[in-house]
Amino acid sequence: NTFAEIDLGEGLNQNIKRCNYVKPTPIQRHAIPIVMAGRDLMACAQTGSGKTAAFCFPIISGILNQNHFTRPNRVACPVALILSPTRELSCQIHDEAKKFAYQTGVKISVTYGGAPISQQFRNLERGVDILVATPGRLVDMIERSRVSLRAIKYLALDEADRMLDMGFEPQIRKIVKEMDMPPCSERQTMFFSATFPSEIQRLASDFLSNYIFVAV
Ligand code: AMP
Repeated sequence: NTFAEIDLGEGLNQNIKRCNYVKPTPIQRHAIPIVMAGRDLMACAQTGSGKTAAFCFPIISGILNQNHFTRPNRVACPVALILSPTRELSCQIHDEAKKFAYQTGVKISVTYGGAPISQQFRNLERGVDILVATPGRLVDMIERSRVSLRAIKYLALDEADRMLDMGFEPQIRKIVKEMDMPPCSERQTMFFSATFPSEIQRLASDFLSNYIFVAV
């Protein structure tokens, strides 16, 4: 019932303490061990449930465990991608993830639409381990050869139902297809959604393999 029991690693545990997180929320208690065990995840979780940490902790822990850091490059080549529907949510995730990764060496960057792209190029060029992105802007970045998804080991979709409501399904499918060239069996995928309608089930069955379903 503590974060220490989940064995996320010393650096991350210190940052969790610094954030004043004393014990995992229900979604964290269930989701984190599933992802740490290498499984895909479909989680029904509302805003405010602590879902940001639920997908960020195993990603950061996994990157630190594998000592797999990305170098600065003109083409950003992140190992983890977090997709979210809006600029506001992307920035929120980015801010939280930076706190969780404080002084670990894990680099996090964000890209979203409705803001000048050239400034975001410069941020990405500094090297990105974890990229937080809205689907439309990410497709743009890929088409401009500024982001490559060939190294992605972790994919998290946050508020997947909202992304579909906003019409992002074609972009999401394009992004995942990009990751599968060549096919990557090692990739772990996490779906977070407040609701679980048939469109979400269809997307989940297309993207996830042998996944565990968690509802809190
Ligand atoms: P989220 O659902 O990820 O937007 O998180 C909702 C709020 O709960 C945020 O302000 C988090 O910082 C906070 N939070 C997340 N996990 C914990 C935890 N284990 N203990 C205390 N606060 C938390």
